Amino acid sequence: MRRAYAQSPVPPDVRLTAVAVVGSLAHEQAVRTLQSSFAERTAGGVRLAKRTSNLFRTRGSAGAGLDVSDLGHVISVDAEARTADVQGMCTYETLLDETLGHGLMPLVVPQLKTITLGGAVTGLGIESSSWRNGLPHESVLDMDVLLGTGEVISCSPTEHPDLFETFPNSYGSLGYAVRLRIALQPVAPFVALRHVRFADLDELAAAVGHIAEHGEWDGAGIDFVDGVMFGPSESYLTLGTWADEGRPSDYTGQRIYYRSIRERERDCLTVADYLWRWDTDWFWCSSAFGLGRPAVRRVWPRRLRRSDVYHRLVALDARFQVTARLDRARHLPARERVVQDVEIPVGRTAEFLRWFAGGVGMTPVWLCPLRARRQWALYPLQPGATYVNVGFWGTVPIADGARDGDVNRLIEQKIGELDGHKSLYSDVFYDRGTFDKLYGGATYESVKRRYDPGQRLTGMYEKVVGRR
Ligand SMILES: Cc1cc2nc3c(=O)[nH]c(=O)nc-3n(C[C@H](O)[C@H](O)[C@H](O)COP(=O)(O)OP(=O)(O)OC[C@H]3O[C@@H](n4cnc5c(N)ncnc54)[C@H](O)[C@@H]3O)c2cc1C
Repeated sequence: MRRAYAQSPVPPDVRLTAVAVVGSLAHEQAVRTLQSSFAERTAGGVRLAKRTSNLFRTRGSAGAGLDVSDLGHVISVDAEARTADVQGMCTYETLLDETLGHGLMPLVVPQLKTITLGGAVTGLGIESSSWRNGLPHESVLDMDVLLGTGEVISCSPTEHPDLFETFPNSYGSLGYAVRLRIALQPVAPFVALRHVRFADLDELAAAVGHIAEHGEWDGAGIDFVDGVMFGPSESYLTLGTWADEGRPSDYTGQRIYYRSIRERERDCLTVADYLWRWDTDWFWCSSAFGLGRPAVRRVWPRRLRRSDVYHRLVALDARFQVTARLDRARHLPARERVVQDVEIPVGRTAEFLRWFAGGVGMTPVWLCPLRARRQWALYPLQPGATYVNVGFWGTVPIADGARDGDVNRLIEQKIGELDGHKSLYSDVFYDRGTFDKLYGGATYESVKRRYDPGQRLTGMYEKVVGRR
């Protein structure tokens, strides 16, 4: 079925939008502009002047922004080789619009539309294809990186392999990816969904292990797997399978995807709606703005039901302390932000979820299995072993006598006990020694010395823990 789409350039029912590729001449010009912008900043730190971000920590200013305005496009797609050359700040929304026109998609498409390819590679990403395809950086074939010296070099498994292997999870501290060549895979027009309910977390974890190992459930082949825990006795795995035909649901209007998981066992989405199913309501986080209520949802313009809009609202709230002031006025306790994605070995996942439900108590919780294809220096997951990404995004009241950050610290400690890992896009509290041990500190330092000898780019620990 999928092979057929690879042969015909445009599958019949895939949503098409006209997004022109920019070609290599325009790309080279955009890189020269970035290099000039970099050369002009002779002192102080540098940062990217991007319009969007999916980082979730408050950051201090790291100096003037580099001009990356023309680095947000697809350069070219080779439909026959199933590869795309993509600029570093190209969002997955733009990338997918282009590749779907060829009946293709990246091997892993993170759920939020404004996550960029460079951001997902340097800051990691995950989706429901990660149990088979690993993380987004594992489908990068080669890339060009702007170094702290101002030079742009290419790296791949054979060219500057030390940089290539250390770049994922380095958070832009070793250089900025300006072009990445990635592998693509063919799509079908629809994804058929089955939401399987589990009343027991050990059974859920065993099912994840089985699917990751055998690629099937109840005799049916599986292409995508993720899940949601609503509580220890009510969790679901959503199993997705490519389909040629179907009557797709629409969760971009009044209906809400995450609620449907509890309401119906079978469903169907177009491929684009499947890949963006979590963006419309930022998983379930849009309910903080009232979008779970029909009256609010009706008047909230459809084009503004997007994760980047909610992200901006949260940033404004943090900046002007609106919620915090209102809570104080109502004599409510201050709240700690607990926004994290952690990777737990599948054999310890049920234990973690029970601990989390009892000790932290936030629901729902997102679940997504993954298997790394190989070992990567700064995020050392065991290759071929199944982990479950557990994502939770919200706040908890700060208990009497506790400090802001204590719950996050407790989570860091717990995942350490369970041989887990935590992604670094949000608040991080590790001390330097622990951080270096967990995230390949010695390798990082030697690669940093080699490719950024003048330390022009802010270091990884300073960015991630120091919030610079
Ligand atoms: C609520 C929430 C849920 C999330 N859920 C998911 C999820 O389900 N799946 C998932 O995959 N991810 C998820 N993320 C994490 C997200 O993928 C990462 O934060 C990712 O790094 C963001 O990419 P971005 O393009 O927005 O980068 P930014 O936020 O702009 O930047 C992130 C870091 O990468 C650096 N950077 C950006 N572009 C480049 C580049 N081209 N070269 C080198 N360095 C660069 C920046 O300097 C910065 O340090 C989630 C984040 C949040 C807040």
